[in-house]
Amino acid sequence: GARRLGRGEHCLYGPHLESRVSSRHVLYAELRQGLRRGELQPWFQPQLALRGPQAGQVVGFEALLRWQHPRQGQVAPGRFMPEAEASPLIRDIGLQVLDATLTRLAAPDCAALTAGVNIGARHLLDERFIEDVTAALSRHPGVPPERLEIEVTETAAFADVGLAVRVLQRLRALGCRVALDDFGTGQASLTHLQDLPVTRLKIDRRFVSRLAASPREFAIVAGTLVTARGLGIETVAEGVEAAEEQALLTRLGCDVLQGFLLARPMPGEALGQWLASHRPDPALPAAPPQPGA
Ligand code: C2E
Ligand code: MG
Ligand code: MG
Ligand code: MG
Repeated sequence: GARRLGRGEHCLYGPHLESRVSSRHVLYAELRQGLRRGELQPWFQPQLALRGPQAGQVVGFEALLRWQHPRQGQVAPGRFMPEAEASPLIRDIGLQVLDATLTRLAAPDCAALTAGVNIGARHLLDERFIEDVTAALSRHPGVPPERLEIEVTETAAFADVGLAVRVLQRLRALGCRVALDDFGTGQASLTHLQDLPVTRLKIDRRFVSRLAASPREFAIVAGTLVTARGLGIETVAEGVEAAEEQALLTRLGCDVLQGFLLARPMPGEALGQWLASHRPDPALPAAPPQPGA
């Protein structure tokens, strides 16, 4: 059997863990404790409008969870989110990120912005989810629901598509926006889009990063942007790292950009200064939306 791990002598997913079971057990316990101690906080990554009346301006940000582990330093979501997603802790994470994000959104320096919060499948499909969002919004009466965007993945939406559609419809009825995240990586196809009450589509980084080099990805992105526009769904390109990608996305009619080219995720305390120092991109002159273009 596995050696009993004493407190402090293990490391997450490290080579010292002798079995999957103890690894998962340790991670779960640490995660629960870290949540209680406030070690998990969202960082914020800005989003830039590429077209429309706000072209060149920052229009919002996405909340991305960071775990400041007392011994291991910063732990990225990829290291603990799969375990969290499979446990009831995903709801605690959702509640904390919603509250922290709405708190940041309520500050005067974010007055004109929207914020995206990622929600795990298990929380989205939990019968308490709509109450959770309603309660979070009621704790921040200065933030209208329209400024909160709930990001769901294709996996969450298609785990139980009938239920997901009803939950998303209730979110829309509350006034919240809904984004379909990582579009193109899972089961969702363009024909599914009309069934899901989403306001935004986030095109996954894997397509964005191959846009310039591959005619195939270029065609997929171009087609996705045209279809989304036709359905009245806004588009966001994720993981934009190169100026060339921004130029192509602008030309193809993508609405919003997010990625290291604009800014990396940053702590809430750094966001205000970043926003104050950001200068609108002169290559993106504000223009009224072109009907049908
Ligand atoms: P996501 O929601 O698709 O978030 C985008 C990821 O791309 C983030 O990774 C972000 O830091 C990264 N990214 C942004 N721009 C660039 C870029 O230009 N280049 C590259 N290479 N990467 C970029 P992160 O923060 O590690 O999060 C990974 C995933 O973990 C997220 O993917 C999301 O699915 C999940 N996640 C993060 N925070 C939360 C949360 O609070 N709740 C839930 N349920 N899931 C979360
Ligand atoms: Mg996301
Ligand atoms: Mg994504
Ligand atoms: Mg992703």
